[in-house]
Amino acid sequence: MAFRPPPTTDEDRRRLATYAGLCAGCAHLQVLRSRRSTFVRCGRADDEPGFERYPPLPVRECPGFERRG
Ligand code: SF4
Repeated sequence: MAFRPPPTTDEDRRRLATYAGLCAGCAHLQVLRSRRSTFVRCGRADDEPGFERYPPLPVRECPGFERRG
């Protein structure tokens, strides 16, 4: 069974906007939080081997980017 993190909220995206680059506005973003850290996870990586599960930030170009909403 694949890991499914909790839904990414607007607050998650606001906090990421300054350093995550494209991921902050992407429909495939998944945000994972621990007590001290926030991780940017790419949801496309679950099914598509060409994508890194935890991409180096900021992401400036990405062929998988899809604007959310
Ligand atoms: S598809 Fe690209 S822009 Fe979207 S979350 Fe994954 S790495 Fe970031």
